[in-house]
Amino acid sequence: MNDGATVSRFLPDEDATLQLGASWAKSLTAPLVVYLQGDLGAGKTTFTRGLLRGLRHSGAVKSPTYAIVESYPLADFTLHHFDLYRFASPEEWEDAGLDDLFADNCVCLIEWPQQGGGFTPAADITVSLNHSEHGRNATVSAHTTRGRQNLEAWLN
Ligand code: ADP
Ligand code: MG
Repeated sequence: MNDGATVSRFLPDEDATLQLGASWAKSLTAPLVVYLQGDLGAGKTTFTRGLLRGLRHSGAVKSPTYAIVESYPLADFTLHHFDLYRFASPEEWEDAGLDDLFADNCVCLIEWPQQGGGFTPAADITVSLNHSEHGRNATVSAHTTRGRQNLEAWLN
């Protein structure tokens, strides 16, 4: 179901990546599962930092590469930012007890979701960031009705 459910943007610099994230803050609603796809250094954590700033989080936004998840209690929901890059096997999902974080009042953004194999919950939205010669290309796709509603409220 991809008709009308994919939007692309060119991001010339880091600021554009931060702004794309921040621009989602006004309309983002929980629950939502978001996959962040792209190579190392593509801008997945930068995008999340922009979103959290837009959501009025004033503290630091660390990459969760070592912690696996950083959680941010916000006004309307809790945002969980995962990075599964360092998983040696998908079973680490269960060892870390991550299922408990996928609650109704949570928005979950997941870097390297494929590292969790079948344990990673399905995505409502995928944000893909890809290196281009100058900057990054962002493609946002919705996979569920909820995801499509969020995407349309954000980028249409
Ligand atoms: P990831 O989480 O995908 O590994 P990071 O967000 O940690 O990537 O790092 C992305 C790097 O690329 C940062 O150094 C950031 O300044 C830079 N960057 C982010 N967006 C852009 C962009 N649109 N154009 C050029 N550089 C960017
Ligand atoms: Mg990252």
